[in-house]
Formats: sequence, structure tokens, C-alpha cells
Amino acid sequence: MAPAQLVEAEQIQKTLRIEVELRAVRDGLEFLFASSPIVIYTCKPYGDYAATFVGQNVTSQLGYAPEEFTKDSKFWVNHLHPEDRQRVLDSLSSLINKGHHFTEYRLQHKDGTYRRIKDEMKLIRDGSGNPLEVIGYRIDDTRRELMDGGRRKYGLSVWKRAEHLEDAVEYRTRQLIESEARYRTLFENIPERIFTKDRKSSYVSCNDHIARDLNISPDQICGKTDYDFYPRELADSYRAVDKRVMSSGKAEEIEEKYVACGHEFIVDTIRTPLRDSGGNVSGVLGIFRDITERKKMEARLAAEEMKQRLLKAELEATEQLAGMVGHDLRNPLQAIVGAVGVLKRDLVIRRDEKAKKMIHLIENSVEYSDKIVYDLLDYSRELQLELTNTNVKSLLKDTFALLKIPDNINVADLTPNELVINIDPARIKRVFLNLIRNAIDAMPNGGKLTITSQKLDEKVTIGFVDTGIGMTKEVLGRLWTPLFTTKAKGVGLGLPICKRMVEAHGGQVTVASTLGEGTTFTITLPLKTTN
Ligand code: ADP
Ligand code: MG
Repeated sequence: MAPAQLVEAEQIQKTLRIEVELRAVRDGLEFLFASSPIVIYTCKPYGDYAATFVGQNVTSQLGYAPEEFTKDSKFWVNHLHPEDRQRVLDSLSSLINKGHHFTEYRLQHKDGTYRRIKDEMKLIRDGSGNPLEVIGYRIDDTRRELMDGGRRKYGLSVWKRAEHLEDAVEYRTRQLIESEARYRTLFENIPERIFTKDRKSSYVSCNDHIARDLNISPDQICGKTDYDFYPRELADSYRAVDKRVMSSGKAEEIEEKYVACGHEFIVDTIRTPLRDSGGNVSGVLGIFRDITERKKMEARLAAEEMKQRLLKAELEATEQLAGMVGHDLRNPLQAIVGAVGVLKRDLVIRRDEKAKKMIHLIENSVEYSDKIVYDLLDYSRELQLELTNTNVKSLLKDTFALLKIPDNINVADLTPNELVINIDPARIKRVFLNLIRNAIDAMPNGGKLTITSQKLDEKVTIGFVDTGIGMTKEVLGRLWTPLFTTKAKGVGLGLPICKRMVEAHGGQVTVASTLGEGTTFTITLPLKTTN
């Protein structure tokens, strides 16, 4: 629809509303007059003063139907009492002069009797001041009892009443316009998108938000349908929901797709049926808001939760397996160690060099297997911390005592001498050991390992910085998975054990690594751990 037409449509809409209000006022007036003894009329301001309108209640006043007055231009004059006729017609000249006139006369009832009528009239002039019409009322004065005080009640006050009603209509109109403006402001400014459609699902109006999405101005929406703006499939589904809401007469809230500026959104829409003054559904009002981000977030959270659950299940299974394998391997290993011991004694006596070499190999392998079993058991065991105040530097020194650092690796421990934390020293020593071993493994051609420790608030961070081979993204992503290793003789439990132990202390392990440059593992521990 063209803007001019829309302005017109809006005007019509406003006028219709005002008309509804006026109708109520008119109904009130009609009721007032119909139930009062006052008969309202209008007539020509000249000649025989032919009636142009006579109120319905004239029938109860004089027995005639209103049409009898309006069809016969002489009806009123002819029913005036012959003795009053000339006087009344003469006196009417003052109506033209003063614009207002009051007179009394006898008028014949349909039953032939004469009634005493009081008649008050007012002259209506056109724009240029020429007499246009007379408007007046007649009251039957025969019913004295009504007239006592009744004149005050219904007589002159009728004009006042009409004026009052006029004021009331004007006031209500102003109120309507104001509330319309308020509603407009609301309509334009709330963050939701709002539209109204008629019974056929054609748009009647929309707010700026929707107009902006559609790249039109709000007044251009009127008369358009969803098929003008959205893919057929979407328009079909919008229309289906509109229809459902209009036929059920019940509001509905649904999540649906929405396309704006080439992007797809998920929106939450509430559709409410609109009703006309007779209570019949005349269209639908829709309010919707973008919930795309919320939906995405929900999906992400659900996926993350699922991942965590799977991971936890996997970890539990691995823990169980590790415990079982570790336990089962322990005994045969003990047996091998025992048997090798016996063989060794015999072989030493026989001085068989080749056999001795083989025995040495078995011993090394057993030792290595034992280490794996130890790791497996450590990993699966329930952790019960034995906390004690521990000097970090001393603990690092103890750890290094267990290791043989290759000559081409330079170690610098920058931990301050006085740093003391409340930890389980045996457990944290294992963590240090694993991290230092990994760093050494990562520097096959030599390099530098720097240990930096510092206190920050109620926490202590200890960093293990190596200048080794670093890690690929892929390795970084799988680091904490039990049994993940890139080493030929690796087990892949070192880091998962570190993580478990540090977390048991209420701390955490983080890693940063650059391929070919080096890796930094940082453990953060609370100064005081509560068991
Ligand atoms: P393992 O040492 O038995 O392989 P870990 O759990 O200790 O098992 O380590 C898992 C993997 O993480 C290693 O195989 C290695 O690929 C990688 N990794 C660990 N520490 C480092 C490091 N300091 N530099 C480079 N890679 C490392
Ligand atoms: Mg390791």
C-alpha cells in the first residue's frame, strides 16, 4: 500500500475508534430521550416549520408515529389548537431574531384530545449565518406533576447536558489519541518484534524492528504477506500457525525459524488472536524475539556436558583397567625377579658372559615393567593425601636426586629458598618427577630446563620450562588422556597422574607449548590444602 493510503487507513482506524465512542454516547442520549417525556425534533426554520425529524417517543406523547410528522409538512401546524395557531406562528419570528424561543400551546393527540405542550427551540445557522434548521424539544405540560421541577430537571438543562456530552466526547477523543500515541511509542521501542495481521494472514502493521529486518519502512508492510518476504516453506509454516491461533482463539508460543538480512535466526514467537468489538477473531498479533544465541549456548552446553560424561566414564573404565592390570602383573613380575635372582647366582659361578648379559636385559625389562605397574596402580588408587608443610626447593632437590640428568641438559631452579607449602610431599614429588622426566625426554639433543616458583596471594605456581621439541596441536589436545603417548617406550600415564594428584590438592596443571621451541607445564597449588 502506498504511504498516502496508509495514512488514510490509519486515519480511518482512528475515526472508527472515535465512532465507537460516539456511538456509545449517542446510545446514551437516545436512551435518555426515549425514556424521558421530552420529545426531540428538528424542523425547517420557515414556512410551516415542517418537521425533518421527530423522536420515537412522540408516540407515547401524542399517539402518532414520527413519520406522520415528517411526511406531512403541515402536520404540526394542522394539529395546533385553532385558538393558539396564529399566536404561536407569530411568536416564532423571535426565534429568527434571537436564535432561541420558548412557547406554550395545545396540540391535538391522536385520540382527539388536546395536550398542553411546552416547546423550546434553538435555531441552527450555517457557516454564513443563514438559518439552517430548528432543533427543539416538546414536553407534555398536561402531566403537571412531571413539570414541577421537571422543567428544571429536563428543560433548560438538556442543552447543558448536550454541551457536557460534547465536552465528554472531545475529552475521550483526546484521550484516545494520546493512548494511541503511547501505544505507538511502546510498539516502536520495545526490543521485541511485533506485527499484526488480518484474518487472511495479510500484514496490517509491524514495528520498526521488523521493518528494518525486511528493509522497508513500517507503513509498507500493510497488505503484504509472508510470501512477499520469506522462503515459501517458512511462509507456509507461519501461515499454518496463524490459522491455528485464529481458529482456536487461543494464544500460542512457539520457537520457529526466521530469516532476516540473509541470516537465519531462531525466534520465540507469541501469537494472540485479535478480536473485533463483537468478540470475533479479526486477525492475529505476534510478538517475537531472537533466541538464536541462547539456543546455541544451550546446544554447546549440552554437547559439553555429554563430552564430560563420556570422558568421566572413560576415565573410570581406564582407572579400573589400570588397577586390574597393575595388580595382575605384580605377582608374575615378583616371580620373575625371584627366578632371575636364582639364575644369576648360578651363572656368576659358571662365569657365562653371554648369559650374564641376557640376565641383565631381563632385569632392566623387569624394572621397567615394575615402573609401569607402579604407575598403573598409582593411577587407579584412591588418593588419600598426607599433608605436611614442605619446602618446595628441598622437594625439588630430592626429586633431582632420583634422576640422572644428561650432560647436555642444563637445569636452573629459580625457586626461592623460603617457599613452603602444605602438601603431600610424596605425591607432589611424583608430579615433579613426571614433569622433569618428560622435559628431559623432550630434549634429546640437549637444552635447558628452568623451574620458576612463586607465591601469588594464597597460591603457589611452579613452572617447568623446557627448550625441547614442543608439541603439535593434536598432541596438546590428547595430553591428559590416559595411555596417550608418542614415545616408543612410553606408557602415557605420567601426565594423567600429575593431573590427578595436583587436583587432589585443589590445584591445577596447565600447559603452553610451541612446536620446535619448547614447552611449559605450570602447576598451581593452594598454599594450604584442606584434605
Ligand atoms: P609418556 O611420558 O609416558 O609418554 P606422559 O603422560 O608423561 O606419558 O606424556 C604424554 C605425552 O605428552 C608424551 O608422550 C609427549 O608426546 C607429550 N609430552 C609430555 N611432556 C612433554 C614435553 N615437556 N615436551 C613435549 N612433549 C611432551
Ligand atoms: Mg611421562
